[in-house]
Amino acid sequence: MGLSKTIWTNPTEFLRAQQPENPVLFFAPQAVQAVARRFLDGFPGLVTYAVKSNPGEEMVDNLITAGIKGFDCASGFEIDLIRRLAPDAAIHYNNPVRSRAEIAYAVARNIKSWSVDSKSELAKLIELVPAKGCEISVRFKLPVSGAAYNFGAKFGATEDLAVELLKTVAEAGFIPSITFHPGTQCTDPMAWGSYIIEAAAIARKAGVKIARLNVGGGFPSWRATGVQPDLEAIFATINRVTTEAFGADRPALVCEPGRALCGDSFTLAAKVKALRDDTHVFLNDGVYGSLFELGQIGIIDRIEVMSPEGVRRTGAILPRICFGPTCDSVDRLPGDVPFPDDIAEGDYVIMHGMGAYSTVTNSRFNGFGELGMVTVLSQKL
Ligand SMILES: *Cc1c(COP(=O)(O)O)cnc(C)c1O
Repeated sequence: MGLSKTIWTNPTEFLRAQQPENPVLFFAPQAVQAVARRFLDGFPGLVTYAVKSNPGEEMVDNLITAGIKGFDCASGFEIDLIRRLAPDAAIHYNNPVRSRAEIAYAVARNIKSWSVDSKSELAKLIELVPAKGCEISVRFKLPVSGAAYNFGAKFGATEDLAVELLKTVAEAGFIPSITFHPGTQCTDPMAWGSYIIEAAAIARKAGVKIARLNVGGGFPSWRATGVQPDLEAIFATINRVTTEAFGADRPALVCEPGRALCGDSFTLAAKVKALRDDTHVFLNDGVYGSLFELGQIGIIDRIEVMSPEGVRRTGAILPRICFGPTCDSVDRLPGDVPFPDDIAEGDYVIMHGMGAYSTVTNSRFNGFGELGMVTVLSQKL
């Protein structure tokens, strides 16, 4: 994929000059730095970046420049990436299921923070990880609504199990902590609030004073035109509820946002290959490309359409069925997509807020998936 060295003023300037046939992602470094500063200024604890959401080196480099000093990794590949780009950064290995070979790989790289949600995986850590100065966070789950996607379906211990695991962690000589992940794209601050209250109950029942509470990711990026994420309201709720729930035993806080840090800094331009019988819009990008996640958690409606000459289409909104380029009928964006009614073959569909779970799930299915990456000063067309 490779980022081009030229920096363009905005997407329009590039599209008019280059008329790209492949999808292009426009990266605005100032956007990621601005949101990183918002987290660093507002979150009452350590901000770590969930690398899986966008492991691009330009993304990681800009986060480091902005002052991010911790990273949430889930594999040996991600650990090596961060060690290379940020040798002094804290790395948390928060994938609760790991093979013995993966554990040994991380021990050899001096990883000091782990999470766990089961007895079998905790037994593996106790056997293979030296306890001294090493933190294990017990991950629990609640049935919480408000997230776009249910992470509790795969990971997280129930309350009783979490109590037992936390006791075992402390008895084995590790630094005991608790973690949870409320889901992704949560807009309701109480998604975190209810988890924090439960975390305090688990610590109390276990009789363990925890060192840190990692409140996960799930912070929203800007996906719906009418709903700008209110990160500061979420930070305030996390801060207030932690004090109320833990009192004198208040732990240090950690968060691990992915989407909220990287989401807003990429804008996609996909070309209209065809307007089939004036009904179906066929794009050169789809769910096997950078738009995979739309099928999972819903459409981003921050869409603009531009002619190849760089003129904005301003017709009335007419929702249409929108397909990607492959021959698979699954390759369709969810629901109907709001496009202006004067959209035409050869136009560019510009979708903002495309930095998270986009480049990283792009596939080469059917021979498509060649993505351009271009740096811009501004994402405004
Ligand atoms: C994916 C993930 C994150 C990041 O989630 P976002 O919704 O992108 O913020 C954080 N923590 C854990 C454990 C994850 O699996």
